[in-house]
Amino acid sequence: MRLLYAADMTLASLEQVDPEIHSHVLAEERREHEKLRMIPSENYAPPAVMAACGSVLNNKYSEGYAGRRYYEGQAEIDAVERLACERLETLFGVDHANVQPYSGSPANLAVYLAFAKPGDTVMGMGLPSGGHLTHGWKVSISGKFFNAVQYGVKREDQRIDFDQVATLAREHRPKLMFCGATAYPRTIDFPRFAEIARDVGAVLVADIAHISGLVAGGAHPSPVGHAGVITSTTHKTFRGPRGGMILCDAEHKKAIDRAVFPGLQGGPHNGTTAGIAVAAKLASTEDFRTYAAAVIANARALAESLLEGGFDLVTGGTDNHLILADLTAQGVPGKVAAQALDRAGIVTNYNSVPFDPRKPFDPSGLRLGTPALTSRGLGVAEMKRVGAWMAEVVAAPEDEARIAAIAAEVREMLEDFPAPGLEHLAG
Ligand SMILES: *Cc1c(COP(=O)(O)O)cnc(C)c1O
Repeated sequence: MRLLYAADMTLASLEQVDPEIHSHVLAEERREHEKLRMIPSENYAPPAVMAACGSVLNNKYSEGYAGRRYYEGQAEIDAVERLACERLETLFGVDHANVQPYSGSPANLAVYLAFAKPGDTVMGMGLPSGGHLTHGWKVSISGKFFNAVQYGVKREDQRIDFDQVATLAREHRPKLMFCGATAYPRTIDFPRFAEIARDVGAVLVADIAHISGLVAGGAHPSPVGHAGVITSTTHKTFRGPRGGMILCDAEHKKAIDRAVFPGLQGGPHNGTTAGIAVAAKLASTEDFRTYAAAVIANARALAESLLEGGFDLVTGGTDNHLILADLTAQGVPGKVAAQALDRAGIVTNYNSVPFDPRKPFDPSGLRLGTPALTSRGLGVAEMKRVGAWMAEVVAAPEDEARIAAIAAEVREMLEDFPAPGLEHLAG
């Protein structure tokens, strides 16, 4: 006879089992429907991606790689992982893909493990200039376990200081050189980094966590052919599940695979792997190329609108999906602005700007971007409205009546732009 557990909870829905968590999920759905989500690392994963992630693949253990596993019962998992890797290899034009890193940070950690020993010299862009924690910043394992040398941007135009990159590289001869950023609004010049890395014998790592969707969609130059190793998240502009990937030349395949497993991780998250495969299929379509181009067109339009509204933009504008505004001239701290904007239904994040005199937890800037808005189908006309609303809020961050009115205007506009997977909340 089949054993039953307490009230047969194993068969009950989330709502029945855990009404508390269920209500938080519903409230988050409502928030993601009603607000302009402009944090540049965020997006809306399509329902097909979510379905793959939430499938029974979650239940399977599969340490190892396709065809070389330590557990039985891998027919479907091997097929799924092979599809994910093959699709990425074709899409990006690389020799090898590893889709097992749990996220962007573990992907970078695996690269350190593959090519460097504790104490070795590595190089990356400093956090205050827009680099990521994992590129050698001192509070991260990458800055604690390695001798991390950090380059930055120039004071005069806030663009990457390639003279400094070349000088530091020659002086310190790093084993690994990271390029790519988390708060940099301009095109990354991969050939220039490659030349410097080649001169000093460093392995160049292009971390395209933010821009992998733009690269896949042909809207940002590709690092392929310049960087021997490419790391990325899969959930930012790439619009897949929360995850990570490493793409590399054939010569680095063995070192990368060994570093991810058994070097750093145990069993891969197979639901995520399936979600990455689905996202890679979607990113290979003409529609996705249109999406990537629209993300950039929207960011340009928004930047123009913000400049007209009196904002001071780091580097004067944007080439990609991201905008960094310096609010010093407006006399409003980034945090005050971000909180007022959130009350107005416009979600951004406060952020340091290069050479910021203020503290990281209370900085001068605001970081925002267009990937999620573009996934809802908003276009240039809507960006003009968003820019105008932002200017109003930042000019009067304590005018709660006007802020509430803007929040209502935002909700009304968004009724015509249902978010992927949240169509049931519209209308
Ligand atoms: C987001 C990001 C990461 C880290 O990704 P997580 O998935 O948050 O660990 C790494 N590098 C860059 C440049 C990023 O922007």
